[in-house]
Amino acid sequence: MSRSKNSLEIFGERIEAGTQKTFHIPIGQLYTQTNISIPVQVVNGKAPGPVLLICAAIHGDELNGVEVTRRVISAPWIKSLKGTLIAVPMVNVLGVIHRSRYLPDRRDLNRCFPGSEEGSLGGRIAHLFVQEILGKCQYAIDLHTGAIHRSNMPQIRVHLENTKAADMAHAFGLPLIIDAPIRDGSLRGAGDDLGIPIITYEAGEALRFDEPAIIAGVKGVRNVMTHLNMLPPRRNPKKETNNTFVAKSSAWVRAPADGLFRSHLKLGDRVVRGELLGIIDGPLGGSETPVKAPFGGIVIGATNLPLVNLGEALLHVGRFDDIEDVETVVDEFRQEVDMMPVELS
Ligand SMILES: [Zn+2]
Repeated sequence: MSRSKNSLEIFGERIEAGTQKTFHIPIGQLYTQTNISIPVQVVNGKAPGPVLLICAAIHGDELNGVEVTRRVISAPWIKSLKGTLIAVPMVNVLGVIHRSRYLPDRRDLNRCFPGSEEGSLGGRIAHLFVQEILGKCQYAIDLHTGAIHRSNMPQIRVHLENTKAADMAHAFGLPLIIDAPIRDGSLRGAGDDLGIPIITYEAGEALRFDEPAIIAGVKGVRNVMTHLNMLPPRRNPKKETNNTFVAKSSAWVRAPADGLFRSHLKLGDRVVRGELLGIIDGPLGGSETPVKAPFGGIVIGATNLPLVNLGEALLHVGRFDDIEDVETVVDEFRQEVDMMPVELS
């Protein structure tokens, strides 16, 4: 990709300033010989500016980010874009087709980066993605959800030692940030090697559209684009004042027994040490095992499946300083995203 004035060249095609173009990056064929490709939308602003990647479904069953991406590229405010947005809603397109987190060979694409031309299926897709997409961007936002049967409270994961990424994480504007060191083989790792700051948005559950998670995701992407001067400043920035908190640490509360887990807790609830979080019982009742909080904090992730075995993850709790402030801001955030009307367009 090269730039001359405000036009852009990518995949051998020129995209003029103020236009959008759809590309399909071929990655191979199904067994049926049907061609498979990764859909890409490039939005080139009228004025020059940074190149930002937003991508989703590196884990093929994580769909909220697919919808976040669609809403961002079709939003009216995208017409004010300075610079370039490269939107890739389905990176692991084979996983999406199979409704699976993984590639057909059961590898995790987010452990295959930066990949290689001669490597495994995942390694080749990762390599192609780095060559054709990631390496041409200056910033990136990677959109994820919780695993199957687990929901995440909307949160940003970032390696805070990377100050540019940390600034993007704060600009996203969510109450909660988790400091997450880079994992080998991840897209964030590939970005780190190339000097491209990447933040990860985590919200909702796999194989579901979760409206509050989608609304918060679109708003956060827009906030980051404003922070990068890709969009004009918001007229009413009063809610964008710093209400973001970094977790000191986080840990899963695990099932102390086998059975059916009953809990009244919701994502974002505050729990205190020793509090009753729920009950594990048998199908006929009468064998109740209490689940108590081993530490206090905010519920940032939870299982949605009541069937649990000993040791299974039930509730993900983040520990914070200033817990009362965090609780207040999280409550405001929950009201804000729950009360917004559902967008059907
Ligand atoms: Zn994921």
